[in-house]
Amino acid sequence: MDMYFCPLYSGSSGNALFCQYGNTRLLIDAGKSGKTIEDALASIGADIRSISGVLITHEHSDHISGAGVLARKYHLPLYATRETWWAMRDKLGKIPPDTVREIEAGKDFWLGDIGVAPFSIPHDAADPVGFRLWGGNVSVSTATDLGAFTEDVYANVAGSTLVLLESNHDPDMLRANPRYSAALKARILGDHGHLSNEACSAALLRLIGAGTTDVILGHLSGENNTPGLARRVSENTLAREGIRTGADVQLQIALRDETGEVYCIREKSQA
Ligand SMILES: [Zn+2]
Ligand SMILES: [Zn+2]
Repeated sequence: MDMYFCPLYSGSSGNALFCQYGNTRLLIDAGKSGKTIEDALASIGADIRSISGVLITHEHSDHISGAGVLARKYHLPLYATRETWWAMRDKLGKIPPDTVREIEAGKDFWLGDIGVAPFSIPHDAADPVGFRLWGGNVSVSTATDLGAFTEDVYANVAGSTLVLLESNHDPDMLRANPRYSAALKARILGDHGHLSNEACSAALLRLIGAGTTDVILGHLSGENNTPGLARRVSENTLAREGIRTGADVQLQIALRDETGEVYCIREKSQA
């Protein structure tokens, strides 16, 4: 069977990712309005009523602003760690008690046909996680909202066919941004903030060395980055090591306000 993955939206103005394997469809985060997410799903041929659940990375509003609506209107179960539940419960409004599902970083579980492996990421939230999703013998990993690409994150993601990794900002653009306070700049640049284009590209180099063939740059800042710049930094870093984008590896950008393409990840044939 093939696995399917689509970045519906990615960035500080709202995140929602789609994944399908076998008879199971799920979302990672619901950081746009319920209606926007429903429409984005419809645009790729997925009825929101066919979604089995929403995996929540952390409680920041760009990841949960539509989650309460999806739980109320479509009875979608929300999967989040205990600390994330504590931090986001009040922000969701009243939701059906049986849509509350608790998960734990490091404890893998099945959501229908998809194997879900949540792992901790360094970010200034209660208990933020990334996800590795298994469909048969292939996997897709997502890690955004992380201040550093740690060895622990690497170990959890390495070997995934497709990786969506944060390429949040250009540090010089961020430092020069007059609309951001010194405190906010320090937060974003810190070890529990967001991953820069440079840090992302260095991480991709390692992941490609470990077998990743498809990369998506995600959670781009609207003010301190551009899709072209993010792409250029990663392509140049890979090119210096002789890795040709478009030939050796596929590289795309997950946009803030435009639903991305649907990726098909083929299972590896068992020889
Ligand atoms: Zn975010
Ligand atoms: Zn965040």
